[in-house]
Amino acid sequence: MEFPFVGSSSQAGYRGRFAPTPSGPLHLGSLLTALASYLQARQQKGRWLLRIDDLDRPRIAADAEGRILRQLEAHGLLWDDPPRRQSDHLPDYHAALDRLRAQGLIYACACTRAQLMQQSLPGPDGLVYNGHCRGLGLPEEGLALRLRVPTERLQIIDAGQGGQSRQLERELGDFVLRRRDGIFGYQLACAVDEHAQGITEVVRGVDLLSSTFFQLHLMHRLRLRVPSYRHLPLLTDTGDRKLSKQNHAVAIEESQASHNLSLCLELLGQNPPPALKRASVTEIVAWGITHWSAERIPKRHSLVVGSL
Ligand SMILES: [Zn+2]
Repeated sequence: MEFPFVGSSSQAGYRGRFAPTPSGPLHLGSLLTALASYLQARQQKGRWLLRIDDLDRPRIAADAEGRILRQLEAHGLLWDDPPRRQSDHLPDYHAALDRLRAQGLIYACACTRAQLMQQSLPGPDGLVYNGHCRGLGLPEEGLALRLRVPTERLQIIDAGQGGQSRQLERELGDFVLRRRDGIFGYQLACAVDEHAQGITEVVRGVDLLSSTFFQLHLMHRLRLRVPSYRHLPLLTDTGDRKLSKQNHAVAIEESQASHNLSLCLELLGQNPPPALKRASVTEIVAWGITHWSAERIPKRHSLVVGSL
């Protein structure tokens, strides 16, 4: 990939994406995100791309990617182009890291997890690294690499959550670009990939809102094109727990695709007619494309689902 980014010659039109981590099958929360980003792209006659976030090897389950692809197909969410597998693009992340290093923005951090817990300060999105290793000039070998962030405040108008801002140093802190085990961090890979895939709008869960500021900062530093953002409410169970793989949310069944799609359309505020539940997957998705209105998505942080 070439740096810096110099224009959008061949990338006219809307380009959205869905980027699952193959650590397990899709659950209803991930289907909701996939469906919203799919309909948002298709209604605008745009392209919908798939990215497999498979860098975090210890978390990857051997059979998960195949299952995710089958789940998407069964739910009528068909993607354009071959999926972009992050593990196939390590040179892109190396190149981005080299550019940041050349700008003098990278330093090695030797802090252990216990030290981080002790030193870090509370921020709006979790613990904030206090910059302990910033001036130490430690050798990079075998250590985590962090990006030095300025005191600048970044602001966005999020299409789903409205105006948002974070002060980089105080509220987010110097963050990890490459872990001590050599694995590239989510923020770096995601910023590079949005550019590489020419993404014009990112539609994803509001749990990733704080990541947006890390990624925006990286995009500015690497001179990558910045997409617009729409963060969706998260699905929670009746006990206010986010549906996630970590919470052992149940996998969506391919055989229940019509039911799952209808339920997601309802949760997304699209008011599907009751008869649609009995329609085929193709008919439901076609109805969704015709009637989709992102403005009707509830402007909340969470949506409660009862029994699944
Ligand atoms: Zn440190």
